[in-house]
Amino acid sequence: MKDMVTLGTTDITVNKNGFGALPIQRISQEDAVHLARKAYKAGIRFFDTARAYTDSEVKLGEAFEGIRSEVYIATKTAAQNAEDFWEDLHTSLRNLRTEYIDLYQFHNPAFCPKPGDGSGLYEAALEAKEKGMIRHIGLTNHRLTVAKEAIESGLYETLQFPFSYISGEQELELVELCRAKDVGFIAMKGLSGGLITNSAAAYAFEAQYDNVLPIWGVQRETELDEFLSYIDNPPRMNEELRAVIEKDRAELRGEFCRGCGYCMPCPVGIEINSCARMSLLLRRSPAAAYLSPEGQAKMKKIENCLHCNQCKAKCPYGLDTPALLARNYEDYKRVLAGEVKV
Ligand code: SF4
Ligand code: SF4
Repeated sequence: MKDMVTLGTTDITVNKNGFGALPIQRISQEDAVHLARKAYKAGIRFFDTARAYTDSEVKLGEAFEGIRSEVYIATKTAAQNAEDFWEDLHTSLRNLRTEYIDLYQFHNPAFCPKPGDGSGLYEAALEAKEKGMIRHIGLTNHRLTVAKEAIESGLYETLQFPFSYISGEQELELVELCRAKDVGFIAMKGLSGGLITNSAAAYAFEAQYDNVLPIWGVQRETELDEFLSYIDNPPRMNEELRAVIEKDRAELRGEFCRGCGYCMPCPVGIEINSCARMSLLLRRSPAAAYLSPEGQAKMKKIENCLHCNQCKAKCPYGLDTPALLARNYEDYKRVLAGEVKV
């Protein structure tokens, strides 16, 4: 039996494997179109992109030429005012070669857009819905407070939020709040930005929540193939997978960088979202690329940190980012010098 999920009060009922189209920015148009079509042919119907993901929309636009009505497309705008909202929406429609967006989401706003808040954003979304340019209104976020406000406002049909087996109690509460309010829950970062490497365990965890639609960010065909195999053979939670999860939870407990990038840009160009979790990346994924001359140059930039705390102020997880960078850099230098084995 295939796992299906309906997003809240929307008419969007799809297989419980969504396609996250952020990583296809990094591959060629041809390869991206191939991946998206392969996903579609195997039964994936929900594709999530964003205006901010450079050419991701353009790639999906080509992939869905001729089959538009058979897929659900979700995209996002990071607009702060109505004028930019309309510009983004028109660009997305053009890029995606479509006349409508199934789910249009406010992309990680610092506040929950509401009618009458002065931004004009929600009014614009409603008008776009009335005109048939978008079918449903959603919101994505990394902040618990904004997410809760959105769910409780009754204004949003979906919430997209990071949710994986290393999430905490608060994220679980959000999932349950969404269930209670009939708001669709779209789980991003089900692999926690690359820190979770057991996709079967990640899938089985998400499968326990019947109101959650995970979207998997895939870049390589082998990664896609793993998730496609779960359409017909969905992994179920068992002792073996539970043990994997317990081990990962023990290792990743406490303060760690999720790689979301919301603290960026850094005034001295530090790639915070990879550098602040380098110790974990070195140990949990192939280390060679991170130790290359290019990787070393990226880490060396940490020496230029101004300790301006801009990143710390923006981190939705409340991390002391400059201190985390310094700790990761010390560890990195020791690994590079062969003092520590990974
Ligand atoms: S504290 Fe350092 S890493 Fe953070 S934004 Fe400032 S310069 Fe960049
Ligand atoms: S330091 Fe915080 S905001 Fe920056 S990438 Fe990591 S988790 Fe995200």
